[in-house]
This record gives sequence, C-alpha cells and structure tokens, in this order.
Amino acid sequence: MRANSERLAPPQVVVNRLVDALCLIEAILLGFRFPRDGAHGVQETWQEQFAEAPDVLKSAQRQQTVVQVLDIEIGGEEFVTMAGPCSVETEFQLLATANHVRRAGARILRGGAFKPRSSPYAFQGHGLEGLKMLARARAESGLAIVTEVMSEEDVPLVAEYADILQIGARNMENFALLEAAARSERPILLKRGMVATIADLLRSAQVILDNGNPNVILCERGIRTFETATRNTFDVAAIALLKMVTHLPVIADPSHAAGHSELVPALARIAVAAGADGMIVEVHPNPAKAWSDGDQSLTFSAFDAMMAALDPWIALRGLQRPRCEMLLHEAIELQTMEAVG
Ligand code: PEP
Ligand code: MN
Repeated sequence: MRANSERLAPPQVVVNRLVDALCLIEAILLGFRFPRDGAHGVQETWQEQFAEAPDVLKSAQRQQTVVQVLDIEIGGEEFVTMAGPCSVETEFQLLATANHVRRAGARILRGGAFKPRSSPYAFQGHGLEGLKMLARARAESGLAIVTEVMSEEDVPLVAEYADILQIGARNMENFALLEAAARSERPILLKRGMVATIADLLRSAQVILDNGNPNVILCERGIRTFETATRNTFDVAAIALLKMVTHLPVIADPSHAAGHSELVPALARIAVAAGADGMIVEVHPNPAKAWSDGDQSLTFSAFDAMMAALDPWIALRGLQRPRCEMLLHEAIELQTMEAVG
C-alpha cells in the first residue's frame, strides 16, 4: 500500500488521504447511529413486505396465538406431534397406527380421507368411510384428528368428524375453500403451497382470519426448487422467519419436504431447532405396502427412534413433550395380565 502511494503524484495522495478520512468519519457516525436505525429498518421491511396480511403479524397486543384443540395447546409450552398415515386405508391400519403413535408421544392423529393426488389414477381416499374410521380411532386412542378437506362442499361433513381441518398445499390459494373452512369454526392447518412465497402463505392465513376464524396453524412442508433428489426443498428459513413475524403457530411437515423416510428424523430435528411449534409426520405399519406416500412414511420403530432422539432438542428449547402414556383400559389389561402371571 505504502509503496503504491509513494509512486502516486502528490495531489492524488492528498485526495486519497482525504477520502480515507471521510470514510473514517462516516464509519464513526454510522457506528453511533446504526444499532437504533438498523434494527428499526429491518422491522419496517418485514412489516412492509407482509403488509397485506396485517392481522397475522405480531403486534404489541398479540405476540403468540395458542390454538386449543381438545386438551392440546398448539403454539404453547408443548412441542405437538401430529402423526399417522398419509391416507386412511383400513380400520386395522389406522387403529394400529393411532395406538402406536400415541404411546410414542403423538397428540394428534393425521390421515387423509379425501386425498389430493398428483395422478388422477392414484387412490383418492375413502371419503365418508375414512372419516368414520378416523372418528373410531379418536374414540379408541383419545387422539385428536387432523384431516384434509379438499372442496368447499365437503367442509360441513369433514368438520363434523375432524378436530382440525387441513388445507393442503395444492389448495392454499383456493379462497372459496379457505372461506368455507374458516366459517366452520374448526382450527385450520394451512399448508404452504409448493410454489407459494411466505407472503402468499400469510395472505391466505389473513383470508381465514378475515372470515372470523383466528385459529390458524401454518405449516412449512417444502417447496419446489430445481433440486430433485428430495421431493421438495425444506425451507427452514421460512420457519425461522414465520416465527419472527407472525403470532400464529408454525409447524413443519418433514415427510412431504423430504420424500424419503430416512431423511425425516434429521428434518424433524432441524424443525425443532428452527423454532417450530410442532410437526406433522407420516407413519405406517408397513410403508412398503402403503396406498400413498410409502417412501416417506416411517415404520413404527423408526417413529419411536425419531421421537426419542428429538427429546433433548425439545428440552433445549425449554418445551415439553408428553411422555408415553397408557390409557386406563390398557393399564388395567396390563395389570390383569401381570396378576394372571
Ligand atoms: C398430505 O398431508 O398427505 C398432503 C397431501 O400434503 P401436502 O398438501 O403438503 O402435499
Ligand atoms: Mn402424504
């Protein structure tokens, strides 16, 4: 540097020194100003970016919405796991899965009775029969039910059976459906569309709020990118950002994000670390024989292992996860078996 300036003509050296000095003064002034104005500037940018969804944004009055479903609080002190098969197939498949995931700490049973499939020739779900199976599984396991509703005409029927209405990725911007679902007064699990921005997701949530339903749970389930090795690209920044800007609970769907069951536990851990309030995950008694999404469905033992491995991460967040609990009739059966020897 020194050798260079010595080779410059003297007036240029003076100009360079002057510029250096001005830069230093600017840096000192900015240094004094930056912390206050900078923080303010960042906040304003998010508010501006999401200005079309004003009621979903955090405010002084509302920092966190807790969605109450039976005795479960989503967005509260507990990391809530929703688990179950992609599709409701048979009574045995559903009940076995419900009982198993409950024992491993899930609080809500998932399962599609109305299935949005990429192919028109794939299994489309059992419809009403599937809803009835879900209701029986709830009665037997005590788990709450989340299931997808695909059309506005089906909303009253699905709302009769479900504790949470799922709006799937393909329907995130089906505003007639959003309005009908909102009016059912059931909590809504709103999945991010596969080509939807965070602003699009928040706008759809705003539509539900505008229709009188404040109980919206947002779900990051992966978006389409040029990457094809995974089914979708898990947008973890979206989880972190959503937790920063919105008071609505945010959950992750590591199954649809990954598309491969062996990746699901890692994505679940990442979701916990990113600040998610819970997750929805696909589990099947025999994934190889699943009627839909078998590749990304966990076996029972893989689900157990994932839940056990998540515990320390959930504890790091200072959140709770329900321990494996036995239903009263199971405890009695166990005692009887033990007494009989
Ligand atoms: C599902 O939950 O099975 C499903 C179809 O999810 P998504 O709408 O996110 O694709
Ligand atoms: Mn699925």
